[in-house]
Amino acid sequence: MIKDLEILVKMQAFDDEISERQMLLQTLPEELNTLKTSLEEANQVLAETKHSLEENLKNQKLKELEIKDNIEKMNKYKNQLLTVKTNKEYKALNSEISHLEGKNNEIDDEIIVFMEEEINIKSSLENVISVQKNADENLKANEERLRKKIKQVKQEIDVLRKNRNDIAGEIPRQIVKRYAALIKNKNRKAVVFDINNSCGGCGFNIRPQVVIEIYEGSKINYCENCGRILIYKPETD
Ligand SMILES: [Zn+2]
Repeated sequence: MIKDLEILVKMQAFDDEISERQMLLQTLPEELNTLKTSLEEANQVLAETKHSLEENLKNQKLKELEIKDNIEKMNKYKNQLLTVKTNKEYKALNSEISHLEGKNNEIDDEIIVFMEEEINIKSSLENVISVQKNADENLKANEERLRKKIKQVKQEIDVLRKNRNDIAGEIPRQIVKRYAALIKNKNRKAVVFDINNSCGGCGFNIRPQVVIEIYEGSKINYCENCGRILIYKPETD
Protein backbone atom coordinates (compact mmCIF):
# COMPACT_ATOMS: atom_id res chain seq x y z
CA MET A 1 0.00 0.00 0.00
CA ILE A 2 1.38 3.40 -0.91
CA LYS A 3 2.30 5.73 1.91
CA ASP A 4 -0.53 8.19 1.21
CA LEU A 5 -3.09 5.40 1.64
CA GLU A 6 -1.42 4.13 4.80
CA ILE A 7 -1.60 7.63 6.27
CA LEU A 8 -5.25 7.97 5.28
CA VAL A 9 -6.06 4.66 7.00
CA LYS A 10 -4.35 5.90 10.17
CA MET A 11 -6.19 9.22 9.96
CA GLN A 12 -9.50 7.36 9.71
CA ALA A 13 -8.54 5.29 12.76
CA PHE A 14 -8.01 8.54 14.69
CA ASP A 15 -11.31 9.89 13.41
CA ASP A 16 -13.09 6.70 14.47
CA GLU A 17 -11.80 7.26 17.99
CA ILE A 18 -12.84 10.91 17.81
CA SER A 19 -16.35 9.85 16.71
CA GLU A 20 -16.69 7.48 19.65
CA ARG A 21 -15.76 10.27 22.02
CA GLN A 22 -18.07 12.75 20.36
CA MET A 23 -20.91 10.34 21.03
CA LEU A 24 -19.86 10.32 24.68
CA LEU A 25 -19.94 14.12 24.67
CA GLN A 26 -23.62 13.80 23.81
CA THR A 27 -24.57 10.99 26.20
CA LEU A 28 -22.57 12.04 29.28
CA PRO A 29 -24.26 15.47 29.67
CA GLU A 30 -27.61 13.76 29.08
CA GLU A 31 -26.80 11.34 31.89
CA LEU A 32 -25.99 14.26 34.16
CA ASN A 33 -29.19 16.05 33.18
CA THR A 34 -31.27 12.97 33.91
CA LEU A 35 -29.85 12.83 37.43
CA LYS A 36 -30.54 16.54 37.93
CA THR A 37 -34.08 16.24 36.61
CA SER A 38 -34.77 13.26 38.88
CA LEU A 39 -33.69 15.28 41.90
CA GLU A 40 -35.75 18.31 40.85
CA GLU A 41 -38.82 16.11 40.40
CA ALA A 42 -38.25 14.39 43.74
CA ASN A 43 -37.85 17.78 45.45
CA GLN A 44 -41.09 18.96 43.93
CA VAL A 45 -43.03 15.85 44.95
CA LEU A 46 -41.60 16.17 48.46
CA ALA A 47 -42.65 19.82 48.71
CA GLU A 48 -46.14 18.98 47.44
CA THR A 49 -46.54 16.08 49.87
CA LYS A 50 -45.39 18.20 52.80
CA HIS A 51 -47.78 20.92 51.72
CA SER A 52 -50.76 18.57 51.59
CA LEU A 53 -49.89 17.26 55.05
CA GLU A 54 -49.79 20.84 56.38
CA GLU A 55 -53.11 21.59 54.71
CA ASN A 56 -54.63 18.45 56.16
CA LEU A 57 -53.48 19.24 59.71
CA LYS A 58 -54.66 22.84 59.32
CA ASN A 59 -58.08 21.66 58.20
CA GLN A 60 -58.32 19.25 61.12
CA LYS A 61 -57.53 22.10 63.50
CA LEU A 62 -60.16 24.32 61.90
CA LYS A 63 -62.76 21.58 62.21
CA GLU A 64 -61.87 21.06 65.86
CA LEU A 65 -62.21 24.78 66.49
CA GLU A 66 -65.60 24.68 64.81
CA ILE A 67 -66.69 21.86 67.15
CA LYS A 68 -65.39 23.76 70.16
CA ASP A 69 -67.26 26.84 68.99
CA ASN A 70 -70.48 24.90 68.60
CA ILE A 71 -70.10 23.34 72.05
CA GLU A 72 -69.71 26.81 73.58
CA LYS A 73 -72.81 27.97 71.78
CA MET A 74 -74.71 24.91 72.97
CA ASN A 75 -73.63 25.50 76.55
CA LYS A 76 -74.80 29.08 76.28
CA TYR A 77 -78.21 27.97 74.96
CA LYS A 78 -78.47 25.31 77.67
CA ASN A 79 -77.94 27.99 80.30
CA GLN A 80 -80.56 30.15 78.64
CA LEU A 81 -82.97 27.20 78.80
CA LEU A 82 -82.98 27.57 82.60
CA THR A 83 -84.30 31.09 82.40
CA VAL A 84 -86.72 31.03 79.46
CA LYS A 85 -90.21 32.28 80.05
CA THR A 86 -92.21 30.95 77.13
CA ASN A 87 -92.67 27.60 75.53
CA LYS A 88 -91.87 29.11 72.15
CA GLU A 89 -88.48 30.32 73.32
CA TYR A 90 -87.81 26.94 74.91
CA LYS A 91 -88.58 25.14 71.65
CA ALA A 92 -86.45 27.54 69.62
CA LEU A 93 -83.43 27.05 71.91
CA ASN A 94 -83.84 23.28 71.93
CA SER A 95 -84.03 23.17 68.16
CA GLU A 96 -80.91 25.33 67.92
CA ILE A 97 -79.09 22.98 70.31
CA SER A 98 -80.05 19.86 68.38
CA HIS A 99 -79.08 21.58 65.14
CA LEU A 100 -75.60 22.26 66.58
CA GLU A 101 -75.32 18.68 67.82
CA GLY A 102 -76.12 17.42 64.36
CA LYS A 103 -73.58 19.76 62.88
CA ASN A 104 -70.87 18.57 65.27
CA ASN A 105 -71.59 14.96 64.32
CA GLU A 106 -71.10 15.89 60.69
CA ILE A 107 -67.84 17.66 61.52
CA ASP A 108 -66.67 14.61 63.48
CA ASP A 109 -67.20 12.51 60.37
CA GLU A 110 -65.25 15.05 58.32
CA ILE A 111 -62.39 14.95 60.83
CA ILE A 112 -62.26 11.16 60.55
CA VAL A 113 -61.91 11.48 56.78
CA PHE A 114 -59.08 13.99 57.30
CA MET A 115 -57.39 11.67 59.79
CA GLU A 116 -57.51 8.76 57.37
CA GLU A 117 -56.07 11.02 54.70
CA GLU A 118 -53.36 12.12 57.15
CA ILE A 119 -52.29 8.49 57.64
CA ASN A 120 -52.08 8.00 53.88
CA ILE A 121 -50.10 11.21 53.33
CA LYS A 122 -47.68 10.30 56.11
CA SER A 123 -47.07 6.87 54.68
CA SER A 124 -46.44 8.24 51.18
CA LEU A 125 -44.27 10.97 52.69
CA GLU A 126 -41.91 8.28 54.00
CA ASN A 127 -41.62 6.89 50.50
CA VAL A 128 -41.22 10.32 48.93
CA ILE A 129 -38.44 11.22 51.40
CA SER A 130 -36.52 8.08 50.55
CA VAL A 131 -36.90 8.70 46.80
CA GLN A 132 -35.65 12.26 47.25
CA LYS A 133 -32.72 11.08 49.38
CA ASN A 134 -31.74 8.53 46.74
CA ALA A 135 -31.96 11.10 43.93
CA ASP A 136 -29.85 13.52 45.95
CA GLU A 137 -27.20 10.92 46.76
CA ASN A 138 -27.21 9.67 43.20
CA LEU A 139 -26.50 13.13 41.82
CA LYS A 140 -23.81 13.83 44.44
CA ALA A 141 -22.12 10.51 43.75
CA ASN A 142 -22.09 10.93 39.97
CA GLU A 143 -21.94 14.65 39.20
CA GLU A 144 -18.24 15.02 39.88
CA ARG A 145 -17.43 11.78 38.07
CA LEU A 146 -19.42 12.80 34.98
CA ARG A 147 -17.92 16.31 34.89
CA LYS A 148 -14.44 14.84 35.11
CA LYS A 149 -15.26 12.30 32.43
CA ILE A 150 -16.59 15.00 30.08
CA LYS A 151 -13.46 17.06 30.61
CA GLN A 152 -11.26 14.03 30.04
CA VAL A 153 -13.08 13.07 26.82
CA LYS A 154 -12.66 16.63 25.50
CA GLN A 155 -8.93 16.46 26.22
CA GLU A 156 -8.67 13.09 24.51
CA ILE A 157 -10.39 14.49 21.43
CA ASP A 158 -7.89 17.36 21.35
CA VAL A 159 -4.98 14.90 21.51
CA LEU A 160 -6.49 12.65 18.82
CA ARG A 161 -7.09 15.65 16.55
CA LYS A 162 -3.52 16.77 17.03
CA ASN A 163 -2.17 13.30 16.23
CA ARG A 164 -4.35 13.08 13.14
CA ASN A 165 -3.31 16.53 11.95
CA ASP A 166 0.34 15.74 12.54
CA ILE A 167 0.30 12.76 10.17
CA ALA A 168 -1.95 14.64 7.75
CA GLY A 169 1.03 16.90 7.19
CA GLU A 170 2.78 13.99 5.51
CA ILE A 171 0.39 13.79 2.55
CA PRO A 172 -0.50 16.36 -0.13
CA ARG A 173 -2.74 19.21 0.94
CA GLN A 174 -5.33 18.40 -1.75
CA ILE A 175 -5.87 14.86 -0.46
CA VAL A 176 -6.18 16.09 3.12
CA LYS A 177 -8.84 18.59 2.02
CA ARG A 178 -10.78 15.89 0.23
CA TYR A 179 -10.47 13.59 3.25
CA ALA A 180 -11.65 16.34 5.61
CA ALA A 181 -14.68 17.07 3.42
CA LEU A 182 -15.62 13.37 3.47
CA ILE A 183 -15.29 13.22 7.26
CA LYS A 184 -17.51 16.26 7.52
CA ASN A 185 -20.18 15.23 5.02
CA LYS A 186 -20.11 11.44 5.01
CA ASN A 187 -20.97 10.56 8.58
CA ARG A 188 -17.33 10.74 9.71
CA LYS A 189 -16.33 7.89 7.41
CA ALA A 190 -13.81 8.87 4.70
CA VAL A 191 -11.87 5.63 4.31
CA VAL A 192 -13.92 2.46 3.89
CA PHE A 193 -13.26 -1.17 3.01
CA ASP A 194 -14.09 -2.89 -0.22
CA ILE A 195 -16.66 -5.39 1.08
CA ASN A 196 -17.37 -8.15 -1.46
CA ASN A 197 -16.62 -5.75 -4.28
CA SER A 198 -18.91 -3.02 -3.05
CA CYS A 199 -18.26 0.24 -1.21
CA GLY A 200 -18.25 -0.21 2.57
CA GLY A 201 -19.74 3.26 2.88
CA CYS A 202 -22.63 3.31 0.43
CA GLY A 203 -22.79 -0.23 -0.94
CA PHE A 204 -22.16 0.83 -4.54
CA ASN A 205 -20.71 -1.91 -6.79
CA ILE A 206 -17.03 -1.45 -7.52
CA ARG A 207 -15.88 -2.10 -11.12
CA PRO A 208 -13.58 -5.16 -11.47
CA GLN A 209 -10.68 -3.03 -12.70
CA VAL A 210 -10.98 -0.80 -9.62
CA VAL A 211 -11.25 -3.86 -7.35
CA ILE A 212 -7.82 -4.93 -8.63
CA GLU A 213 -6.38 -1.47 -8.06
CA ILE A 214 -7.78 -1.39 -4.53
CA TYR A 215 -6.22 -4.79 -3.86
CA GLU A 216 -2.87 -3.57 -5.11
CA GLY A 217 -3.13 -0.38 -3.07
CA SER A 218 -0.95 1.41 -5.56
CA LYS A 219 -3.14 4.51 -5.86
CA ILE A 220 -5.99 6.25 -4.08
CA ASN A 221 -9.36 5.06 -5.41
CA TYR A 222 -12.55 6.91 -4.65
CA CYS A 223 -16.04 5.34 -4.68
CA GLU A 224 -17.74 6.40 -7.92
CA ASN A 225 -20.96 6.95 -6.03
CA CYS A 226 -20.20 8.49 -2.61
CA GLY A 227 -16.61 9.60 -3.20
CA ARG A 228 -15.18 7.80 -0.17
CA ILE A 229 -11.65 6.44 -0.29
CA LEU A 230 -11.72 2.66 -0.84
CA ILE A 231 -9.20 0.25 0.63
CA TYR A 232 -8.75 -3.50 0.61
CA LYS A 233 -10.00 -5.34 3.68
CA PRO A 234 -7.26 -7.70 4.86
CA GLU A 235 -8.34 -11.30 5.52
CA THR A 236 -8.70 -12.14 9.17
CA ASP A 237 -9.04 -15.56 10.76
ZN1 LIG B 1 -19.51 4.62 -1.80
